[in-house]
Amino acid sequence: MSQSKKKREIPRFSNPIIETHCHLDYLKEDSLEETINKAKDVGIEKFITISVSPNNLDTALEIAKNNESIYCTQGIHPHEAKDWSEEVEKKIREQAKYQKCLAIGEIGLDYHYTKSPKEDQLEAFDKQLTIAGEMDLPVVIHSRDAEEDTIKILTKHLGSLKKRGVIHSFTSSLELAQFAIDNGFYLGFNGIITFKNAQNVRDALEITPIDKILLETDSPFLTPIPFRGNENSPKYLPLVAQKMAEVKALPIEELLSQVYKNSFCLFSFS
Ligand SMILES: [Zn+2]
Repeated sequence: MSQSKKKREIPRFSNPIIETHCHLDYLKEDSLEETINKAKDVGIEKFITISVSPNNLDTALEIAKNNESIYCTQGIHPHEAKDWSEEVEKKIREQAKYQKCLAIGEIGLDYHYTKSPKEDQLEAFDKQLTIAGEMDLPVVIHSRDAEEDTIKILTKHLGSLKKRGVIHSFTSSLELAQFAIDNGFYLGFNGIITFKNAQNVRDALEITPIDKILLETDSPFLTPIPFRGNENSPKYLPLVAQKMAEVKALPIEELLSQVYKNSFCLFSFS
C-alpha cells in the first residue's frame, strides 16, 4: 500500500467511543443507517444528535426515538435566535422531557457571523439556560467571538445550572476555557484540533484537565485531516481521538477510557 493511502485510514481502537455532538439530520453522503453502521465499525457506541432550530426539534427527537444508540438535545442555536418564540419555548420544554433527550442545546452566542441580532441571541440563550436549570438538564453551548457575554450570562445562571454542560467545538480564549474549567463545565473538541492553523485550540486542549474533555465531530462540519473535502461523519471520530491523545501526551487507551467516563458523567444515557 502506498504511503498516501496508508495515511488516509481511520484507526480502530479497542475502547468504545461516544460521539457527543453531531447533526445526523444534516448528513447527505450516506443514509442514516449507513452513517451509524460505518461509525460502529470503528468503535462508536452512542451518538448525540443536536437540534439547532425550530425546524429540526422534531427531527432530532424522532431520530433518537427510532434508534437505540442515538440520543438527542432540544434547543435553538444562536444563528436561529431570531426565530425564538413562546411556542418554541413550549415545544422545547415538552420534548426535553423525553428520556432520550439528554440536554438543552445547542444554545449560546455567535458574534462572529451574527446571523441573528445580538439582543435576540442573548434573550434565547438566557431563556434556554433557565429551562435547563428548571428541568435539571445539562446545556450544550456554542460560543464564538463572544467570550465576555458568555461568561457574564453563565455566571448569572451558575446557581441553577446544577448539571452544568459543555462548551462544544471549543475555539475561544484561554480565559473562557479557564472559566469553564473552574466552574465545572466540560470542553468539547473536534476535528479542528487536527488543523494546522489551530494552535490556539490545541493550547486550550492542553490546559483542560483530562476529566473535563469530551470528544465530538460536529458532523457534517469540520472534517478532520486527512479527510478534508469529504463530508464529516461520526466515523472520523477516532482521528480526533488520536490527535487528542497526542496533544495530551497520553496513551490512546487511557485517553479514551477517561473521555468515555466523562460523557457518562455529563449525560444521563438510559
Ligand atoms: Zn453543532
